[in-house]
Amino acid sequence: MKTLRVLAALWLAVAPASSQVIGTPVHTGPSASAPRVPLALSFAATPQSLTDLGARMRVSLTSALDAVAATPVPQRTFSTTVKAMERAYAEYYEAVRPAVFLASVSPDPAVRAAAEALDKAADDMMVELGQREDLYRAAQDAADKGETLDGPDRRLLEKTLRGFKHSGLGLSPEGRARMAAIDRRLGELSQTFGRNLRDADLWLTVAEKHLKGLPPATVAGLPRTEDGKVRLRLDAPTYGLVMERAASRGLRRAAYYKHGNAAAAANAPVLQEALALRHESATMLGYRNYAEMALAGRMAKTPKRVWAFLKRLRSSLAAPRDAERKELRDYAAANGAGKLRPWDTGWWEAKLKRERLGYDPEAAREFFPMDQVLRRTFGIYEELLGVRFAEVPSDGAWHPEARLIELRDAATGERLGRFYLDLFPREGKYGHMAAFTLVSGRELPDGSYREPVSALVGNFTRPTGGRPSLLRPGEVKTLFHELGHIMHQLLTTSRNWSQSGSATARDFVEAPSQMMENFVWRVETLTALSGHYADPARTLPPDMASRIVADKFFSPASDALGQAVLAAFDLAVHSSGHADALATYEKVVKAFLGKAPAKGVNFPARFGHIMGGYAAGYYGYLWSRVFAQDVFSAFERAGVISPETGRRWRSAVLERGSERDEEESLRDFLGRDPSEKAFLRWLEKRSSPILGA
Ligand SMILES: [Zn+2]
Repeated sequence: MKTLRVLAALWLAVAPASSQVIGTPVHTGPSASAPRVPLALSFAATPQSLTDLGARMRVSLTSALDAVAATPVPQRTFSTTVKAMERAYAEYYEAVRPAVFLASVSPDPAVRAAAEALDKAADDMMVELGQREDLYRAAQDAADKGETLDGPDRRLLEKTLRGFKHSGLGLSPEGRARMAAIDRRLGELSQTFGRNLRDADLWLTVAEKHLKGLPPATVAGLPRTEDGKVRLRLDAPTYGLVMERAASRGLRRAAYYKHGNAAAAANAPVLQEALALRHESATMLGYRNYAEMALAGRMAKTPKRVWAFLKRLRSSLAAPRDAERKELRDYAAANGAGKLRPWDTGWWEAKLKRERLGYDPEAAREFFPMDQVLRRTFGIYEELLGVRFAEVPSDGAWHPEARLIELRDAATGERLGRFYLDLFPREGKYGHMAAFTLVSGRELPDGSYREPVSALVGNFTRPTGGRPSLLRPGEVKTLFHELGHIMHQLLTTSRNWSQSGSATARDFVEAPSQMMENFVWRVETLTALSGHYADPARTLPPDMASRIVADKFFSPASDALGQAVLAAFDLAVHSSGHADALATYEKVVKAFLGKAPAKGVNFPARFGHIMGGYAAGYYGYLWSRVFAQDVFSAFERAGVISPETGRRWRSAVLERGSERDEEESLRDFLGRDPSEKAFLRWLEKRSSPILGA
């Protein structure tokens, strides 16, 4: 570790640009000259072909793993066990992942259903294989030999053993049976929790006169009762609309309690049972609590570090948050409001924002035609990362609207990877915007390198009435963000499949994309990306550009502290097996915000994150943001659009995946330990120049 760090520091001092460092002693990836080998992809699937593929790949994966398990003990080495298993999984997923992807994008409902079934079958098989004692023994025998491994391989070995350990393979037969029962029960509880929320009664019946402030088109579309009252279902967008727009305090108050307690009675015991079971399984595996177990493979490593981080945030953000709150209270008081209750805050905030920073998103989007934004976004990435984008025919894709882009290294012209763009909504298509890894980069047995392939899936407005597809500023930001993930996936040079691209620790994976968002929230970038669809020479008016940026920085300290509360609550309930969730929540809110939350609402019973994949992981949103801002500060010091800094970012972090500790990569890039300073400065960056103007 120490030697590595010294070398890394040396490298920083001598290496001028990324492409030259590939192959130097500190870089353990394949050499730059390793040819990238594309995989022929076919998306012309039928339900039957998907079922057949699943069966075929299951057989070949199982037989490859059987061969590993059959390796005689004397021949068990890292390469014949851990590495051989990883290769088997890589080959399996190279065939299965592009097929499973069809569940999100295929225009054929039968294909989507078959792809979903394949996905489920693959997941089930992975759980099953993770329980195989013979494979665990093989890996453990290899580990016991104490071979000298380099960094990436050592990490792969540790991760493999930890995976087996977490599925209970180090336990007695009774322990393992108990563990399996806990896992099954936790799966059921998670489903029940989600179902209770989905099925909860969210209906309010109100007289139409109470709906003042809501958009007339929305009100007109609402169902009525026989006596002419309006029925309102408080799903997420409607609830948001009511809390921000409804002039009636009574309606907002009713909505607050109805929504806040939607599934409280049913979900409170479900959550409590899940917390106890998680604690039990963690202690069975030798951890003190679930939080400790969950963090073992993450960048943060221990709950103690996260607690210290959250406490620092609390003390740094207290004053700026109070200032934000005071401004809001003063504004409300000046407009005749009394004491602000929880159902008042959102309404006054939205009003203040509209009044002082308001811009019309519909007018703004006329300056962001999709194709132009894409081209110019590519241009910024090209300059920063030393790459070139080129669109090529997308024959054989799953839909005529899918486009294919090649990514090349600007210096060598070598093709590094490819990615698809599928950007318009369709019936049955994935409804958000996301970057999918279809094929991960990895070193092949003959020393060549598997060329990675990704897909960027989105849902922008289609061209209509003579206007091209036009993006709202928030969509421009999301495009920038997701393209950040695509670059992380395609620029990889990691040798090992499971460490390549964006396969990094969960509390780090968002950092590269969050970092890129900073480029968008600048007047200069927004202007550079803009050009009116009817007259491209007309760029975004400066006043509108400033307002878009200011809107983003409206109440950053309050927002971050709100996230810190949830992160602290999540960590606190996962630090003991018997803490009452609601009481813990009230305690945390009091500690972070100075006063207890409003009585009569059970927030934990509707906090889906901790029953989904984010248990003891909610802090990750803030944690990765710290690194995003720290890294961006290096770009700022170098003049923001700095190709030299971008090249270093590419080689120190993007190319490295998780083949070394993410913190090590950051240190390599920054030339020092990561720091929270830039993050805290960013949270204090208020939109005051416009406020009050
Ligand atoms: Zn993301």
